Amino acid sequence: MDKPEKPLDLLIIGAGVAGLTAGIYAARLKLKTLILEDEIVGGQIQETYVVENYPGFSKIKGSELIDKMHEQTLLAGTALDEFDKIVSVRLTPQEKIIETQTAIYRPAAVIIAAGMKRREVPIPEEKKFRGKGIHYCELCDGHMYDGKVIAVVGGGNSAVGAANFLEKYAKKLYIIHHSDKFNADQIAQDQLFSNKKIEVLWNSKLIHGVGETSLSSVIIENQLTKETRTLEVSGVFVQIGSMPKTDLYKDYIRLNESGSIVATETCETNIPGVYAAGDIRTKPIRQLTTAAADGTVAALLAEKYIIGLKKRKEVIA
Ligand SMILES: Cc1cc2nc3c(=O)[nH]c(=O)nc-3n(C[C@H](O)[C@H](O)[C@H](O)COP(=O)(O)OP(=O)(O)OC[C@H]3O[C@@H](n4cnc5c(N)ncnc54)[C@H](O)[C@@H]3O)c2cc1C
Repeated sequence: MDKPEKPLDLLIIGAGVAGLTAGIYAARLKLKTLILEDEIVGGQIQETYVVENYPGFSKIKGSELIDKMHEQTLLAGTALDEFDKIVSVRLTPQEKIIETQTAIYRPAAVIIAAGMKRREVPIPEEKKFRGKGIHYCELCDGHMYDGKVIAVVGGGNSAVGAANFLEKYAKKLYIIHHSDKFNADQIAQDQLFSNKKIEVLWNSKLIHGVGETSLSSVIIENQLTKETRTLEVSGVFVQIGSMPKTDLYKDYIRLNESGSIVATETCETNIPGVYAAGDIRTKPIRQLTTAAADGTVAALLAEKYIIGLKKRKEVIA
């Protein structure tokens, strides 16, 4: 069956904070807009227990904040399609074509707000134990390990935050970190170091997972001595950073060596009419407020581009 072809003013890829903010502005600008989201609405902040630095809310659950933004976007009038996967894109100065599993879109402008995905732990048994001992979302899966010995891998804010969150379930909790210091906020580190249930294994790397059908232990290697050690843990939560989700666009859009879309605070990419908003673009600070700022800028500049394009077409006609 042929897929329906749908014209749009603006297509926004991703319904995280950047995409939803762009959607709110696009509705106010009266652009015929669709936000495509291939998972659930919300992006990274959906999984964050508590947010304490978003203006207007001294303390709010990540999921609650995103619910409010989602509702506001729909009320403003922007359409949102969840769980439809993009299968191909063509992004040139002349045409923008985005094909999903169910439709083909030909928007005048595109905002890529597809954010970041978690980095997988590089061990041979990752796939075997994913969801059966190896996890990436402590908020979603932490409760499965009530009274058990567990570990967190990583040393940044996400890892230290995950350990502080998970300790309530754990009988004992190890943090496996490849370096000899954390790269996390001092306040989070102080909370962690004051907890007697938590033991930090410095200069250590997870090299194997062991178990029949689910994880029962892991093997770690000391990076200085190369000695290995087996830890009896039934769950490991991995927090070793994120990568931009840019594979789909790499044939058209300029990326830097880390895979981020090259764009400044105007969010303009190398292709006129294609904008990159939020964590997916090159930027020094990745936060909710900077993602929302990008969504704003991208939508307002996309509108200017669309108006210009319509005028040029009228002149030619
Ligand atoms: C654990 C953690 C805690 C954090 N805590 C804070 C905090 O307290 N305060 C703060 O300011 N910031 C915090 N951050 C950072 C903040 O969450 C991000 O900067 C912000 O959410 C980025 O928003 P975004 O919209 O750019 O991207 P994302 O949130 O990554 O959203 C991108 C969306 O695009 C979707 N998508 C991707 N590819 C496609 C595709 N092909 N088709 C359709 N949809 C697609 C994804 O599913 C996702 O929903 C935290 C981050 C993490 C990981």
